[in-house]
This record gives sequence, structure tokens and C-alpha cells, in this order.
Amino acid sequence: MKYDNYDVLIVGSGVSGLYAALNTDPAMKILMLSKRELTLCNSALAQGGVAAVMDTDNDSFDLHIKDTLIAGGYKNDRGNLRILVEQGPKDVKNLLSCGVEFDRKDDGSIDLTLEGGHSRRRIAHHKDSTGYEIVTSLIERVKKLENVTILENSHLLGLKKQDGRFYSDVMHEGTHHYYTTKTAVLATGGIGRVYDYTTNSAIATGDGIQFAYNMGAEIKHLSYIQFHPTAFADKKNRECFLVSEAVRGEGAYLLNCHKKRFMDKYEPERKELAPRDVVSKCILKEQEETGSDEFFLDISHKGADFIKNRFPMIYQKVLEKGYDMTKEPIPIYPCQHYLMGGIAVNGHGATTVEGLYAAGECAHTGVHGINRLASNSLLEALVFSRLIAEDINKKYTPDKEYAPIDADCPSPSGKPLPSGIRTEIRHIMQKSYFVVPNYAEAEKHLARVEEIKDMLYNGGYELTPDYIEAKSLTTVAYIILGEVVAEGKEKGEI
Ligand SMILES: Cc1cc2nc3c(=O)[nH]c(=O)nc-3n(C[C@H](O)[C@H](O)[C@H](O)COP(=O)(O)OP(=O)(O)OC[C@H]3O[C@@H](n4cnc5c(N)ncnc54)[C@H](O)[C@@H]3O)c2cc1C
Repeated sequence: MKYDNYDVLIVGSGVSGLYAALNTDPAMKILMLSKRELTLCNSALAQGGVAAVMDTDNDSFDLHIKDTLIAGGYKNDRGNLRILVEQGPKDVKNLLSCGVEFDRKDDGSIDLTLEGGHSRRRIAHHKDSTGYEIVTSLIERVKKLENVTILENSHLLGLKKQDGRFYSDVMHEGTHHYYTTKTAVLATGGIGRVYDYTTNSAIATGDGIQFAYNMGAEIKHLSYIQFHPTAFADKKNRECFLVSEAVRGEGAYLLNCHKKRFMDKYEPERKELAPRDVVSKCILKEQEETGSDEFFLDISHKGADFIKNRFPMIYQKVLEKGYDMTKEPIPIYPCQHYLMGGIAVNGHGATTVEGLYAAGECAHTGVHGINRLASNSLLEALVFSRLIAEDINKKYTPDKEYAPIDADCPSPSGKPLPSGIRTEIRHIMQKSYFVVPNYAEAEKHLARVEEIKDMLYNGGYELTPDYIEAKSLTTVAYIILGEVVAEGKEKGEI
């Protein structure tokens, strides 16, 4: 067992956690946690890129804002959206100085690409593995910072605030370690694992949201969930491989079970380039028409050289699954992809609990409205984690030495967790809310989710990573279904 004190706890080593650490005053002692290996996170999976107004001759802040508002159903927080768009280019340039390599044109300028919902080419990308390029470059930088201690494979199991300080319980190599910090930043990512099928990595269990909720922080719009229309459809894996939006951006067609284009029926102007929520809903409508859930994405008309050069990773992955995308359409279907809601934060990432910040996918800045525009998420993770760091820097005063924690450490012993909880929660969520909410199913299952939640909260289970993930998924499902049922009642559909 180990005890220690730090100035700042950062939970998460995705883009938001890493970038927050990089921008924090080096005078502060930072502890950064990653519950699995450093690169196992949604950030490292990002393919398409980062959206920002880099080409001011052909693009403008107002256009980026307009596209984001259209995609978000005009439900976006306009103040935070303006911050995102106007500050974004600064952070994309900062990435360049952190060693991130974006694809370039022959004249050396950044080769900006197009994605669904964008009216201009504004996506900076590294082939089709932008997230991995950014994460690995930032990890290299953060590892050089003497004030940052990175604890890999270290799972936050408990977080509470007492007498103005945060107390955390962290499991590392099977042992509990206890830390106190003045400030805590939750950068714990999304909630995809609450579904049967998701593009999200295994860490996306909503832990940060659960901790914030139980500390009394405001949680907002957790039912604003994005279902990406083009995940590779093999129906064999929980983690579905994403076929990036950029493939449609570069001209791919969506085809139904008869291998016929259908988007013009529902979206005559934008066709395949309509925002994600619209395309996913069109796919379900077409499924009703044809009676088949077989759908395809076809970019073979662009030629093998272009495809292999522009989408080398996707080409290879899909080839491993038995399809040559340079020659044939590939099977796709919508699946859970992103969370627009989360821990409510203000314009510099502060939650409603003093000293507690949230950044990236676990936070709700409101910039995305009800549907995130492609490639705005990495941008949000960058801009708002820097603003968090700047706010922490502003408030920094050297800390007095704190005595090691001697009391209130939760007992690690308890009953073992029964099996099957997570599977049950996932099935419930898949039935109750896939692309569009099913109000009747949500109402039917809410009481059962509440029952599981009560059992997990009060059952005296041993405090382990498995227990925390089950508790987080159940808490998240409970909040989402509660919102869905309330909406159904408001609409008079239940
Ligand atoms: C397949 C895919 C493709 C995408 N493509 C794009 C794209 O092209 N452009 C774009 O803008 N967005 C894209 N996104 C979305 C974007 O990648 C994510 O929203 C964003 O990277 C989230 O970053 P984050 O730092 O908030 O979380 P993550 O990168 O997911 O990091 C979360 C971190 O929290 C840690 N953590 C969680 N719980 C605990 C705990 N209890 N204890 C300790 N550590 C914990 C994890 O270990 C991890 O290090 C994509 C997402 C996916 C899944």
C-alpha cells in the first residue's frame, strides 16, 4: 500500500488527459492514471482527424460554427462552440510543435480533407490513423516532464472530496494505493461499453461520469448518444471496427441489400454527406423498406492507388476481414460511437464541484448539441483540456505538505461480484435505445437497472476494477434510461 500527495490528479491518458498535463504549470506535481496501457483509449482509435479552420482563404470560423450547429440540431452551447472554433487552430498548430505529423500537400501545406456535415475541407489528418499519431506524440512529450508521474495499468476505484482535498483509491498491480490532491481532472473518455456493439475501446465504461455523479456533480444530457452509420458489420465482436466518415468524405456510396444507392431518397441534397445521426436514421428507414439489415459502403470507383494511400489502415483491416475495398463494397451497419452528454462543465472545464474538472468525451461542454460533427471531438479534447490547465495554473498556490491518509480508506474486502451484470445491462441498452429511443423498452427496463444499481451500491462487494466498471456501466445506463423515459412521457409516447 502506498500513500502520496500531489497538486493535480489527471485520470486518463487519452488526448484530453495528456494535453492537460502538457499545458499545466511545471511547478505542479501531477499524477496521471491510465487504467490499462497508455494507448488503449478512444483517442488512439481516431481515424478521420481534427477539424479546424486552418485555410482562412476558403474557410471561416462562422462556417465551422454553422456546420456544427446544423449537425447538432441547433442545440449546441453557442458560447462554448465559439471558444472551440476560434481557439482550435492554435491547438492544431501546437500539435505540430509537439511533433504530430499531418498529411501534407506538395506545396507543404496541411492536406485538409472533407467529412460528412462539413461544408469545407478542414480536417487535418495523418493518413487514417490520426488519433494514434497524436496520442503517441503527446505521450513522448509528457514522459519527458519531470513533474508528471504516469501510472499505467492503474485503475481509479474511488474518488471523494473531503476538507477541500480529493482522496483517490487507485489499484495498481493488485494493490490499493491512496493519494490526495488539491485538484482533480476527469479525462476518462466515453461510455461505449454500455452497449452490445460499439466502436469504443475496452476502457469506455463511464467510470469518470460515475465518480462525478456520486460526488454530486451535475450530469447533463447523457442520452445524447451518437450512433455512427458505418461500422464494419461482422456482428462477431463487441468492439466494431470503424470505417471512417472520411471514406464517405472522399466519395464513397452507401448501398442497400440490392447494392443500390438510397440516400438520395431521404436526403436529396447532402446524400452520403449528411451528418451521422441523419445517415444512421436513413439506414434504419431503408431497412424497413427492404426488410434487410445488409448495407454496404463502396469506394472502389476511386481506384486502388488512391484508396491504399489515403486509407492504408482501413484497407488493411478490412482485407483481414475478407474484403478488398479497392474492388468491392464492404458491409457496414450503425453502432454506438460517441457520447455528446456528460459531466456538465463551464467554458474552462470546471464541473459544479469545486476543484473538479472534466475534459474530453466524459465532459459535456455542449459544443456538439444533439449530434457531433465529425472530427470536432479531438478538437474539443484539445481546446478544453488546455483551458482547464490554464485555469488550474491561474489558481495555483504552492501546497503545504499533507500528512499521509490515515483514515477513511475504503476496505478492500467484500463479496465477489456476481457474473453477468454487464451483459444484462448491455442487452437492456441495445434494446432500449439504438439510433432512436424505444420509449416502451426503456420504461420496461428502468426498474431492473435501478434494482441492479441498488444491489451494486449496497451489496458489500469487493472494491475491484471489475466492480467499478459494472457500477459505472449500471449508473450510466440508469441515468440514460431515466432521461429517455422522461422524454417519452413528455412526448406522450409512454
Ligand atoms: C473508432 C473511433 C474513431 C474516432 N475518430 C475520431 C476522429 O477522427 N476525430 C475526432 O475528433 N474524434 C474521433 N473519435 C472520438 C475521439 O477519439 C474521442 O472522443 C476522444 O479521443 C476522447 O478522448 P478522451 O481523452 O476524452 O478519452 P480517451 O482517449 O478514451 O481516454 C480515456 C482515458 O481514461 C482512462 N480511464 C478511464 N477510466 C479510468 C479509471 N477508472 N482509472 C484510470 N484511468 C481511467 C483510460 O485508461 C484512458 O487512458 C473517434 C472515436 C472512436 C472510438
